Amino acid sequence: MRPEILIPLFAETDGLEGIGPKLKKPLEKLGLTRVRDVLYHLPERFVVRRAVTDLDDANVGEQVVVALDVVEHRASRSPRGPYRVMATDAKGNVCALTYFGRASYTAKKQLPVGEKRWVAGRLDQYDQMLQIVHPDHVAEKSEQAMGQMVEPIYRLSEGLTQPRVASLVEQSLDRAPELPEWIDPGTFQREGWPSWREAIAQAHKGENGKARDRLAYDELFANALALMLVRESNRKRRGQPLQGDGHLRDKLQLPFPLTGAQRRSIDEISGDMAQSSPMLRLLQGDVGAGKTVVALESMLVAVEAGAQAAMLAPTELLARQHFETLRDMARPTGVEIALLTGRDKGRARESILMGLLDGSIDIVVGTHAIFQQSVAYKNLGLVVIDEQHRFGVSQRLMLAQKGRVTPHTLAMTATPIPRTLVLANHGEMEVSRLDELPPGRQAIDTRVLPIDRLEDIVAAVGRHVESGQQAYWVCPMVRDSETMDDDIAAAEARFAGLKERFGEDVVLVHGQLAPEQKDAGMARFAAGEAKILVATTVIEVGVDVPNATLMVIEQAERFGLAQLHQLRGRVGRGSEKSTCLLLRSSELSETGRKRLELMKSSQDGFLLAEEDLKLRGGGELLGTRQSGEEGFSIATLEQVTKLLEMANADAKMLVEQQGGLANPERGEAARTVLYLLERDWGVQTLRGG
Ligand code: ADP
Ligand code: MG
Repeated sequence: MRPEILIPLFAETDGLEGIGPKLKKPLEKLGLTRVRDVLYHLPERFVVRRAVTDLDDANVGEQVVVALDVVEHRASRSPRGPYRVMATDAKGNVCALTYFGRASYTAKKQLPVGEKRWVAGRLDQYDQMLQIVHPDHVAEKSEQAMGQMVEPIYRLSEGLTQPRVASLVEQSLDRAPELPEWIDPGTFQREGWPSWREAIAQAHKGENGKARDRLAYDELFANALALMLVRESNRKRRGQPLQGDGHLRDKLQLPFPLTGAQRRSIDEISGDMAQSSPMLRLLQGDVGAGKTVVALESMLVAVEAGAQAAMLAPTELLARQHFETLRDMARPTGVEIALLTGRDKGRARESILMGLLDGSIDIVVGTHAIFQQSVAYKNLGLVVIDEQHRFGVSQRLMLAQKGRVTPHTLAMTATPIPRTLVLANHGEMEVSRLDELPPGRQAIDTRVLPIDRLEDIVAAVGRHVESGQQAYWVCPMVRDSETMDDDIAAAEARFAGLKERFGEDVVLVHGQLAPEQKDAGMARFAAGEAKILVATTVIEVGVDVPNATLMVIEQAERFGLAQLHQLRGRVGRGSEKSTCLLLRSSELSETGRKRLELMKSSQDGFLLAEEDLKLRGGGELLGTRQSGEEGFSIATLEQVTKLLEMANADAKMLVEQQGGLANPERGEAARTVLYLLERDWGVQTLRGG
């Protein structure tokens, strides 16, 4: 249960003053449905103004507050023309306050002739005349104007204005209670941070590094704490030590020797599985690094020890492909492997369920259908999750609840997560890395081209397809409600354009399609019926298409380098030569260009991820876009780098040495921050276990 003290913070924004049905949509679009969301909607920047007694003292282009005497109103002859209010400063300098369109009504009301007004805005020059276009504020009293010297600027959506958001923030601040302090007293004092309530208030009032850092720390701390709690409760769970004797693995007839990295990972995994506390391990390795065979060997360890194993894939098509690969590889061992997806119904499904229950099926591959209530196992010992970033932390944890005793869990990912972030995203797991590709792989020939060269690029794709090969065409789609519609429109427009040129050879798959439609499109491409696949990022979990050796990525600058690398890995899996064309917009910044150039020089996903983090630095948020993980909504990259270790250490100390949530002084506060920052899955698992 959410702590009572948080009730006002989780109240709906509907209850705030001035919110009618008209504002509901714009607020939802920004995710501001509860008071807490408004409080955490921190300003993007501040306009800092300077009060001047006369305009001689101000520079053109400067944000100023100045007292002006209103002299005259001049309407334009044409209705589209400007409406000017002529005014003079203390020295008699003339300044025009210029309005367009309906704004002139405001001007008439706010600026009566003969009166003095304090005007805030940006000083401009038009011909020889000083002017302020659409003043930000017009006040009758100087005190009112002085209140506007530092003004927060918020991210808006259509239908919202700055004053409206400011008013919601103001009301939300009034409702915000003091919360008990969850920060370790040592850290709190050393950093000289304000209390939570004070920090939120300050962060809305002006540039304030300490306040912002504290709020970022809170998020990192809550995240770390939740992961630690999961890890701790996992440690206490009863697992099943599984010691394989190798009799099945010995029968495998792999067509290749394992790489050193694969062997090392298998050793680490089987070492964990032999313990009585359940394994929680992440296997990281580039696309094509050979994770499947590591999964197979791990599952065979479980089977050798008399248990069953289950492998979970994010899509039906991928599950099917895994099933076929594993079945073929494992044939000499004689183990029984089954496929179970949501599509299986009736008899076939019944017989698989029976097999899992009576133990005649050793390994099952499937979509989340394999973890439904109705599916019972005789003795599930190991769960492998492929492309685990497609599953949230909480889902990841649900899976671990299946079975009499908690099964061992192996999560796999091709996302090259920078070292700094592994802890933040996977603090509850141990990590194995496949940092060595199977021999004989060729580097992917990567080129950066401006979008202006589109015609040449389409022609190149044409030649590629005529030579009998296939190609991916990737258009970015960001999981952000603001741009998603535009992104889909862009992908659809590109699809239409390519279709005109290539006809039925082109197929479109994007994130908004129903799973069956996605799978159907992917299947056509995988079967070679379609030659060109236009896709958004969904193909990061795509199936193998050995014949697809060319990839075009549009608006490449919008992707994180790690993600670009993961995408292009799709064409670099075999021994054939493959090409990746990164199309950039023509007006790209220096850094943007530099970033893309890195893609040409390196094929090392981890290095690219680290470099990207360094290059971008700054205020960027770690949304899902960059990391492919749940990410942070308050802490910026810079703050993560600065504060993550501290937050982790504090969370670890609280959990391991100070009794965690049962700590008499800070336990309740810690619970509060978990709920406040919506990491309460940390608390839930505790109760479950
Ligand atoms: P991923 O890590 O992307 O899941 P896969 O497991 O699908 O990669 O492996 C990619 C390809 O590399 C497969 O065709 C697989 O058979 C092959 N492969 C895996 N390990 C090796 C190895 N040690 N030597 C040569 N080829 C390998
Ligand atoms: Mg794979």
